[in-house]
Amino acid sequence: MNKKHTKHFCYIPFDGITIDPRGHAQLCPVWSDEADHSLHDFTKSSTTIENIFYGERIKKIREKMLNGEHINACKYCYSREQHNLESKRIKYAMSRKRFTDDITPKIKYLDISFSNQCNLGCVMCNSIHSSHWHQQEKSMPEKARNALKTHYDYNQFKPVTLQKEVLESILDNINDLELLIIKGGEPLYDKNCLAFLDKISNVKPTLKIRMVSNITAISKKTLETFSRLKDIEIFASIDGIGKTYEWIRGTNFNNIDKNFQRLLTHPNISVLGINFVLSIYNVGNMIDTINYFSKYQNNIFSQNNISIYPAIQPYLCANLLLNQHQNTIFKTIIEEIQKSAFIIPSIELQSIKNIIFNIDSAFLVINKDDDSYNRYESFIEFTNWMNTVRKFNIQDEHNYIADIINTYTEENND
Ligand code: SF4
Repeated sequence: MNKKHTKHFCYIPFDGITIDPRGHAQLCPVWSDEADHSLHDFTKSSTTIENIFYGERIKKIREKMLNGEHINACKYCYSREQHNLESKRIKYAMSRKRFTDDITPKIKYLDISFSNQCNLGCVMCNSIHSSHWHQQEKSMPEKARNALKTHYDYNQFKPVTLQKEVLESILDNINDLELLIIKGGEPLYDKNCLAFLDKISNVKPTLKIRMVSNITAISKKTLETFSRLKDIEIFASIDGIGKTYEWIRGTNFNNIDKNFQRLLTHPNISVLGINFVLSIYNVGNMIDTINYFSKYQNNIFSQNNISIYPAIQPYLCANLLLNQHQNTIFKTIIEEIQKSAFIIPSIELQSIKNIIFNIDSAFLVINKDDDSYNRYESFIEFTNWMNTVRKFNIQDEHNYIADIINTYTEENND
């Protein structure tokens, strides 16, 4: 980043925009999700990418950034930097390919959720991101539902599907576009997204496409579309192996294992990675997962391609661990990672430590009023409910989970 740019300057508003799974256009995925910061609500009306990107709202934000002014909606980045953690602002600046310091606004980068249609209802998800979760949530007991809705600040599911106008406007800007990030919902389950990928394969097959996918639904047709695209990066959401994976994601582990191997040998996939969301349910399965996938390491699934993202929802966060288990579990993670085939950056290890030992700076999601409920009660209710949804008990897989449930159930009975 150029030294003349202040701590409030960010390149992202000069390069692209994000459309999140709520159908809100915003500057980037970590831009504050408060309603008044949304640049456009696609559930209410349609518009084009150009109207947003070249509109007055972003223009003013760019001017403010160039004047070194504080931007309220960027507080997540500022807060991470204050805690010496890497921010999206810095990460993007380091990876930015645009020639030198050119900041002429141009749509080079889009981060798009095509819809919130998803075939899974994973434990750490919610109705903002998944239509299936919305169905699952209907049987959820009150304390757990209250915890979830307080954390995510939503009341009801809103189906989101991007309109033809916005999709066509992406194609109109395809020449300048360098990177299209696709999230969901589940992109490979969403017919609109698959049809859109097919169109890209006709107009700009060399475009770099980065996708976050649960890799459960990979049809022959999808693989054929991939064959016409030349630069696909897939980050598979896999947060466990065996029964732990199946409890967390509610789907068969062998199926995604098989799909992972199919992607691994696909000639047009340039990067394959794993995104592991660390929660109380898999903190004891993380090393097994890393070790299991080490056999697949190759030139596209390299030693840097497993990323750990600690979940911060209070009712399923890894800091629910009892004191008696914290040291042993963390020590095992550190020792085993050093021996493993993958490199987990020290900053990710630091966040794991912060979460397990409940160090404040792990919780940089601001303005979430999560003190309004007892998180252990919510965790127990959530776990018992999910045990009925999955039809087996996660505490039978991990003693440390059984210990938390027993301890806090006993306390309540005293
Ligand atoms: S400073 Fe952070 S929040 Fe603001 S636009 Fe840049 S990456 Fe997004």
